[in-house]
Amino acid sequence: MNVAILGAGQLGQMLALAGIPLEIRPFFLDPQPEAPGSRVAPQLLADYTDHAALDQLARDCQVATFDFENVPVEAVNHLARRIPVYPPPRALEQSQDRLREKTLFRSLGIPTAPFQAVDSLAELEAAVSRMGLPAILKTRRLGYDGKGQAWLRDIADCAPAWHRLGGQDLIVEGVVIFRRELSLIAVRGRDGQQVFYPLVENQHADGILRLSRPAAPDAALQAQAEHHGQRLLEHLDYVGVLALELFDCEQGLLANEFAPRVHNSGHWTLEGAETSQFENHLRAILGLPLGETTTVGCCAMRNCIGNLPELGAVLAIPGAHYHGYGKIPRPGRKLGHITITAPDAAALAARLRALDALLGDRLAPDT
Ligand code: AMP
Repeated sequence: MNVAILGAGQLGQMLALAGIPLEIRPFFLDPQPEAPGSRVAPQLLADYTDHAALDQLARDCQVATFDFENVPVEAVNHLARRIPVYPPPRALEQSQDRLREKTLFRSLGIPTAPFQAVDSLAELEAAVSRMGLPAILKTRRLGYDGKGQAWLRDIADCAPAWHRLGGQDLIVEGVVIFRRELSLIAVRGRDGQQVFYPLVENQHADGILRLSRPAAPDAALQAQAEHHGQRLLEHLDYVGVLALELFDCEQGLLANEFAPRVHNSGHWTLEGAETSQFENHLRAILGLPLGETTTVGCCAMRNCIGNLPELGAVLAIPGAHYHGYGKIPRPGRKLGHITITAPDAAALAARLRALDALLGDRLAPDT
């Protein structure tokens, strides 16, 4: 089976690697020369909207998917008129616009922070006066890793934030007081079968994910998250992996956003779960039975941001699994991740401390 993947970033690379033992032949389309995925499968070097390139993929492949959510919907629709594309283009479209995404959550009964679209500075100031401070102004489109947003702590912050974020297509949200950030990695097959990984606890620094680990089991919280996930999957007639980002608050779980793709907070599943999110995404889009999502021992994942620790030093830590993305180092860039597995929580904590010392960033995972 040949599978087209729009986007050959690290997620594409890991999808391709998961596909090879299943006799899947991945083909990438990505305008970036020597993208990470090109190290493991052929890459068509062209713009996503290049119809000739899309038509070639449609001739060569039986099914298509994508590895990032800002791939132009027009490109995905072009492909979808020729071969099946999963997740469905509609899910991609909804996730690309924070206003549509949050409105969808609301319509499905999935609670969110208070939000409002704002089309002028006066409207922003009025919304903030009503909602209260602090608040967060965000671009409706193309925000990621905390980019495209500004915190408003005082009414006087509105004007500079409004101008800095471009003065159009903005949304303002009330700031939520949360205990922790969680994500639910959900999978739905072509036949409607659904499976969910255990909730993942995520720690960020400077808006970028640093650490993900399966949260301590909490059946009620898991059921609440799965209920929300199920509503979303079924409404979108979804196929593939979907990540739902949640705030764990006193009043319950609030949804922040969803990603219609495999997700950074699910990378630990490569070594820490019975079936990885990458394999399960491929199983889903190919109509194969979905794999078990149970954890195997204890594990956690650390992102390597801006620089990569020395390979030998990492591999000297028991249970360390190194995943480099072949990218040129730049401050704030995700260059790789390391999963640590361990037989128990105490061993995991000790191994994470050893990794922390090598990474040298300031996040200290609690033990
Ligand atoms: P986002 O780009 O929406 O994923 O936001 C990036 C990060 O900003 C989130 O992971 C949270 O840590 C924080 N954040 C976003 N929205 C809110 C909110 N309404 N209240 C509190 N923190 C938020």
